[in-house]
Amino acid sequence: MQKQAQIKDSSWIEISASALVKNIQNFKKTLGPSVRLGAVLKGDAYGHGLRQVCPVVHSYLDSIYLISAKDAFWIRHWEKENKKRARRLVVMGVVSESDVVWCARDGIEVVMGGPEWKDVVKILRRENVRLKTHIHLDTGLSREGFVQATLAQDLAFIRANSKLFDVVGVMSHFANTEDVTEQAYAKTQLRNFAKMGAEVKKVLGLSRPLEEHIGATAAALVLPESRLTTMRIGIGLYGIWPSTEARISAKLILKKPPKLIPVLTWKCRSQTVKWIPKGSYVGYGCTHRCNQDTRIAVFPVGYYDGYPRLLSGKAHVLVNLKRCPVLGRVMMNHIIVDVTQASFNGSDCEAVLLGEVEHENLPAELLATWAQTIHYEIVTRLGSHLPRVVVD
Ligand SMILES: *Cc1c(COP(=O)(O)O)cnc(C)c1O
Repeated sequence: MQKQAQIKDSSWIEISASALVKNIQNFKKTLGPSVRLGAVLKGDAYGHGLRQVCPVVHSYLDSIYLISAKDAFWIRHWEKENKKRARRLVVMGVVSESDVVWCARDGIEVVMGGPEWKDVVKILRRENVRLKTHIHLDTGLSREGFVQATLAQDLAFIRANSKLFDVVGVMSHFANTEDVTEQAYAKTQLRNFAKMGAEVKKVLGLSRPLEEHIGATAAALVLPESRLTTMRIGIGLYGIWPSTEARISAKLILKKPPKLIPVLTWKCRSQTVKWIPKGSYVGYGCTHRCNQDTRIAVFPVGYYDGYPRLLSGKAHVLVNLKRCPVLGRVMMNHIIVDVTQASFNGSDCEAVLLGEVEHENLPAELLATWAQTIHYEIVTRLGSHLPRVVVD
């Protein structure tokens, strides 16, 4: 038994391919045929693993959004190796000088988010390449984006170098679609976007239509007027609602909101299982004391792996479909769980730390509540060292 536990991975993440595909199909149904579906695979596909998620979803998408150019290069490489049609890849984050040249050569689109991008002119000129770009407009988030007041002068470097820049789209990002059930601020951003988008075309002297994209998952579900050329779907692709507010609003607005199926299950095999007598203290700080004889399982996961320390004394895991409380503190590489009620035979057991099994569910939202954060942070901070395995 011990041998087997050492050979197998002690902790791993299962990625459901069918859930990913169904989520995409459900979004397509909701958005209709005239809106393009873009998937956001930033943050190692929201912690689900870019290398596992991309091959499953690639053929269903119109475009893929990333933060890091390195991720885009990996996808291009994967496409070539596997003879797949090249998808539109859009890098939304900071791009280094050398990477920007490779983006241009590989047909990877980049997002220019402010006047600092004018420095790219000399690199493109020197390398004699043309860069496909989207222009990010700051309509109210105050993060990336050209601002309204200086738009014309800030875009002058693009107008003066139309040979170097192939402007394909304008984009923006909402500040407040998921935290509210009223979309007044988002509607103001939409109006700003329309106005600024028109100005971009005027300043650059473009007559052809530009791709327009502003909405992420929440907007796709609660703000139909934000469905412009393309939607950038992140969290929803992974079967997770952006927020409770979005879930409630979507029900009211769409009547039949899409079903989102969680994609990720985090599992762990016990390292050791034993009985400890009534009165025993458990873990660092002796914060827990057993008031009866207790069967405990030690699992080799901890805050190093992305199981937040704030779950100490709050969380439970699922063993044999039974909720089993985490006793005492979450440690760097261990948690100790009361498995007395889990009634399993043998000397080890398997726990679900996050995810759904049959009628029991440990959603990322619940872990996030326990850990005083949001589910986006829970999934993206799962250790990159944990193996991700694609299952049906
Ligand atoms: C993260 C991100 C998205 C996706 O947001 P979700 O809420 O996960 O759908 C879309 N656009 C931009 C610019 C982002 O940074």
